[in-house]
Amino acid sequence: MIHSEHQRRAYLEALGIDVWLPRDQADPEPEDLRADAAGDGLDWDALRDAVAGCTRCSLCEGRTQTVFGVGNPSADWMIIGEAPGAEEDRRGEPFVGRAGKLLDEMLRAVGQGRDRAFIANILKCRPPNNRDPKPEESAACRSHLERQIELVQPKIIIAVGRIAAQLLLETDAPVGRLRGSVHHLGETPLIVTYHPAYLLRSPSQKRKAWDDLCLATRVAAGGSA
Ligand code: URA
Repeated sequence: MIHSEHQRRAYLEALGIDVWLPRDQADPEPEDLRADAAGDGLDWDALRDAVAGCTRCSLCEGRTQTVFGVGNPSADWMIIGEAPGAEEDRRGEPFVGRAGKLLDEMLRAVGQGRDRAFIANILKCRPPNNRDPKPEESAACRSHLERQIELVQPKIIIAVGRIAAQLLLETDAPVGRLRGSVHHLGETPLIVTYHPAYLLRSPSQKRKAWDDLCLATRVAAGGSA
């Protein structure tokens, strides 16, 4: 049975059938899609299963596997990136390429290694050619991430890179403007830092990323900015 307009459209798109809609219905707001998304109240196992079998958007067609997230399910620090890349899609784990190694080093340096923190992405499936997530993809995936955050109940969320920061905070502001202050996602403090892939290209910015992680350490410990 097809349960919602969103699922109907996803289904038709999966079959390669163009869906023509009046302009005012053509692009449902992310909130509408979010409201559609089930996922409330799931425990870890049920959520993991829901993600593994997810067909809410067309990214399910190209994935090798979903990339759920990894780490301590009761972590103080939750790291949220953008989406799996090729290596992550192959291995089923977030941030395992070169950028991931740098992220691991940065987290270890502040005592929050991969087994201590919880690391996840906005999207659980790899976008083709590592393109940016489409609004309907991040909206379809949002309740998975929201439930992960509810289950982990982190003291601090670190949004890693522009895409994650902008989607989580619903802003167009650049990372350079978002970093350095404490935002909130609901009640949870959130800080923004550079994506490790960017830091690999621009090592001179590593110092700022270090400052961001020091800020996160203070905030997670109950201090202020
Ligand atoms: N970049 C991300 O944002 N997430 C990953 O898992 C890998 C690279």
